[in-house]
Amino acid sequence: EAKRGGRSRACAYSNALAEEIETRRILFNEINAALEGDQFEPYFQPQVYTETGEIYGCEVLARWRHPERGIVPPATFIAAAEEAGMIHQIDQIMVEKGLDALEVFREMGVHVPAISVNASPPTLRDPHLTDRLLQAVRARHLPPSVLTVEVLESTLIENDDDMALLTIENLSKAGFSVVLDDFGTGYASMSNLSRLRLDGIKLDQSLVLPVPEPRADSIISALVTLSSNLNMRVVAEGVETPAHFKTVRRLGCDVVQGFGIGRPMPKEAFIQWYNTYGAQQIRTG
Ligand code: C2E
Ligand code: MG
Ligand code: MG
Ligand code: MG
Repeated sequence: EAKRGGRSRACAYSNALAEEIETRRILFNEINAALEGDQFEPYFQPQVYTETGEIYGCEVLARWRHPERGIVPPATFIAAAEEAGMIHQIDQIMVEKGLDALEVFREMGVHVPAISVNASPPTLRDPHLTDRLLQAVRARHLPPSVLTVEVLESTLIENDDDMALLTIENLSKAGFSVVLDDFGTGYASMSNLSRLRLDGIKLDQSLVLPVPEPRADSIISALVTLSSNLNMRVVAEGVETPAHFKTVRRLGCDVVQGFGIGRPMPKEAFIQWYNTYGAQQIRTG
């Protein structure tokens, strides 16, 4: 009896595994086709200075314009693209299309000083990343300072990952900004903060969404102090409400990003957002 139960359970597991493998195979082929069909597009989310309300820059976030499923969010394809060894291609496309948009913004009188792009751990392990990014900015006669690379804390704790650490140093030396994304999501490694010269941290939305609340506020306040002692900028993510905004401004965060300021948008919508932003006065709530 027990034996049979065990066998059917094992059978159910192997069916589930086969299904999982099949799902992945399909996703792999689809991502490949999406790359060939140029279906990855950048969305732009504004980032503004808390004190002046001026535009600090925008984060470039990947979207997959699927022929049947419409706009597919990154949660659906980033991990799969990483496992399939294709994430560096998506990351590079976001750099190229992001920089192209920066030129369009300038032509339209939309003043965006810089863009931030996300770099997955496999992307950071590519020894040619710095060169590829330098080529991308030089081809457009832009200085490296227009590009910020967002890296995840998880990249840094995989400490065998000397390659990624080296790349981060090289990016810095080449004049790109490097910031630690999703700061506070579980890996906060202080030794990495002292070893690496980072330009800033991005407080994860899980730290920001609970404010104003005494304990949440204290944590942000402490991280702001730490960052300013290390000469790093603090960007607060997940700023959704005027109360979030007022609190993180009072606590000393330099820059805010969140649905309360603006959602990730295609570049045309971003230009519209820019042109109406002054009138909206979201920042003063
Ligand atoms: P992330 O880099 O931390 O990007 C911020 C995410 O938070 C975005 O989700 C954004 O839409 C969302 N967000 C922004 N403001 C708010 C807010 O006020 N409230 C809430 N609840 N959420 C907010 P998105 O675009 O779905 O991207 C998810 C993640 O996928 C990104 O997190 C990043 O880790 C990854 N990702 C996106 N694009 C790329 C890419 O081109 N390359 C790589 N390697 N990863 C990417
Ligand atoms: Mg990011
Ligand atoms: Mg983040
Ligand atoms: Mg994130």
